[in-house]
Amino acid sequence: MKLPFQNTYARLPADFFQRTPPTPVASPSLIALNHDLARELRIDPDFLRSEQGLAILSGNETPEGAEPLAMAYSGHQFGGFSPVLGDGRALLLGEIAGKDLQLKGCGRTPFSRRGDGRSALGPVLREYLVSEAMHALGVPTTRALAAVASGEQVHREEAEPGGILTRCASSHLRIGTVQFFAARQDHAKLRTLVEYAKKRHYPDLKNALDLLRKVTQKQAQLIAQWMGLGFIHGVMNTDNMTLSGETIDYGPCAFMDRYDPAQKFSFIDQQGRYAYQNQPYIAQWNLSRLAEALLPLIDENQERAVQLAQDELAQFPELYEAARLKIFSKKIGLPSNSNWDLIQSLLDLMTQQKADFTLVFRSLSQDPSSLLNHFQEDTPALQNWLTRWHAAAPPDRALMDRSNPAFIPRNHRIESVIEAAKNENYAPFHELHQILRQPYQEQPEFQHYQDSPAPDEIVCATFCGT
Ligand code: AMP
Ligand code: MG
Repeated sequence: MKLPFQNTYARLPADFFQRTPPTPVASPSLIALNHDLARELRIDPDFLRSEQGLAILSGNETPEGAEPLAMAYSGHQFGGFSPVLGDGRALLLGEIAGKDLQLKGCGRTPFSRRGDGRSALGPVLREYLVSEAMHALGVPTTRALAAVASGEQVHREEAEPGGILTRCASSHLRIGTVQFFAARQDHAKLRTLVEYAKKRHYPDLKNALDLLRKVTQKQAQLIAQWMGLGFIHGVMNTDNMTLSGETIDYGPCAFMDRYDPAQKFSFIDQQGRYAYQNQPYIAQWNLSRLAEALLPLIDENQERAVQLAQDELAQFPELYEAARLKIFSKKIGLPSNSNWDLIQSLLDLMTQQKADFTLVFRSLSQDPSSLLNHFQEDTPALQNWLTRWHAAAPPDRALMDRSNPAFIPRNHRIESVIEAAKNENYAPFHELHQILRQPYQEQPEFQHYQDSPAPDEIVCATFCGT
């Protein structure tokens, strides 16, 4: 079978990327294949399961029509600017049905610096599970088409089995991609990039300012969705934020169990820069970097360009707060013009009592009388909250069920899936994946997957795996 690759990115000027073939691996085996996504892309899943399919998904064979390349980009990492990052362990094969297909963990590229270009199997399975869970939860995200065990070891803290993820995205254009040309003051290529981004994502937009506005809107919506699920991305560097508004790069990401606005998991984020409560501020900070990069295209008069860009950026807090209010109103089953104070009071009670974010909201929709089970003690403040909630309006239970997941990819579950996978036992991976396909459905036989971790199961830190 010939895969119907288009290669629009490969047609861009040479300094947008470096052409590199994937590096073959010793003895690949397929762990997971996303049949639904394959069909959406109009690829026959049976072909991907075949020997040749596996060779393609492991980087052992470059499919006919693909033009593997590592994309160039810059990025602010934890606030510091790196002018040249680029795909150091990923290759774009091309586009199929308008979507990028990328192999991640497929060997060194000209952007690898000191890295090995590989990925451990753990992070591959984590990204597969979490990105597919996000999709099922209704969050814009890159997706996982396949996970392969490479049959080789990678060396991190210790030797670990290696893996390769096939990722699918509306595109892999990042804020960092725009920064790459801005940093070189290459305004012609900057313009080419903006035209390309508009054509792929927002064909109705006219100019760079429109693009800034659109990305600001998309990111405000996206971050509000993350906040509504207790999702912490963990590495919100500008190279990990897309122009499409899809969540990308599931490194040390995690869903929080107990509600704590200051929660962070990433081991490398010692300062908590990317903690839960900071995510909207960081998004706005990243968008400011995008605005800066776009300035030369916004107006010839740079003073005017700055003013126009600032006006767009100034919209972010309002857009974010409106999106957040809508999302949390649904979570408590009230009309979207409800009162943030009511929601904030509940969140404050959850913080004080270290209540589980997901279980509290789910119990509100399923059985409000069980709400107290998720708090350490019944307090007048809690009763007062319930009274206020009941007085506000009759809650829309069906809406709440659709807005409060029963199942999220909890850290301790992911960790045990990864531990089992290290011993080539993939059954826990498949079970968790299956449950997360319908996160808003009660699944009585898997009830225990809703539970928060026991004290000895709590995961305190997550790692990029790079
Ligand atoms: P990330 O933390 O995945 O967003 O990656 C940040 C940068 O480091 C990107 O340029 C990656 O391509 C690069 N990188 C991460 N891990 C590796 C690796 N194992 N080998 C080469 N480059 C890597
Ligand atoms: Mg990245």
